[in-house]
Amino acid sequence: MANQTEPKTLQQAIIYFSNPKNCLTYLTARRWPDGVTCPTCGRDDVSFLEKQNKWQCKSAHKQRQFSAKVGTIFEDSPLGLDKWLAAVWLIVNAKNGVSSYEIHRGLGVTQKTAWFMLQRIRLAMQSGSFLKKMNGHVEVDETFVGGKFRNMHASKKQKLQLAEKGDTKTAVLGMLDRTTREVRTKVIPNVKRATLQAEILKQIVPVGTVYTDSHYGYDGLKAARFIHKTVNHLEEYVRGDVHTQGIENFWSLLKRTLNGTYVAVEPFHLERYADEQAFRFNNRKGKKDADRFMLALSQVTGRRLTYAELTGKVGESAF
Ligand SMILES: [Zn+2]
Repeated sequence: MANQTEPKTLQQAIIYFSNPKNCLTYLTARRWPDGVTCPTCGRDDVSFLEKQNKWQCKSAHKQRQFSAKVGTIFEDSPLGLDKWLAAVWLIVNAKNGVSSYEIHRGLGVTQKTAWFMLQRIRLAMQSGSFLKKMNGHVEVDETFVGGKFRNMHASKKQKLQLAEKGDTKTAVLGMLDRTTREVRTKVIPNVKRATLQAEILKQIVPVGTVYTDSHYGYDGLKAARFIHKTVNHLEEYVRGDVHTQGIENFWSLLKRTLNGTYVAVEPFHLERYADEQAFRFNNRKGKKDADRFMLALSQVTGRRLTYAELTGKVGESAF
């Protein structure tokens, strides 16, 4: 089996993926576990064109020829999969994240390219399990990150107005399921009651137990059929099983990464950085580096992000 030769360590990964054939075999097996199909029409009797390193569909439609990158986070990039896969390996396994400068120096791409690569890889680190609601005992807490402006497309005047209002931090809501130890995060526009509770209803099955601090934004959860237990942080942090220490532990990991590695994350991008941290947090126990890598690679399809979407700079390329 090919699996026996698949890399287990960073050093093995660099060597293994320096061979383009290995890159293709590995990626193909993850994105098409049941065999290669045409991304346009779904036909499964496609033929491989050795010279072009592409497949060809037998139906007559546009984009008859396609590479393994089509429809994935690697699409439209002239960079080789050797660099992409090494970057994925690094970020999914680095406890405190990896900066674009490290990728730039380590892989020999420009810092701008490295930054864009990392933003795209973070998409593959978004959990695919969010469709399923959390059920059971869930800690919920909100935190504030950064000191920049929420809307990157805002005019200078708007930004100044926001600054005058003191509106310079971004709120993030976090939930930790005590049974599965899964964390979910969401950047939210404010910490008003309606905002917090709409998100809680979206993510947690009612009748579950919700643990929060005594912030007024969580008042009334009982009316929504949750069992609601609160701890007043002015008086105590833990009362038996009533606490939010699991999610607070996650916040300190996130802030360590944001302050230590990424330094100045724009609020517009913050959700992806929180996703990145949650991916490592949710896959830290009982999983090896190669497992996290494989999981990210199985989630590269159907997630796309252009440089213009990221930066508002239309017509500019990161490669
Ligand atoms: Zn086709």
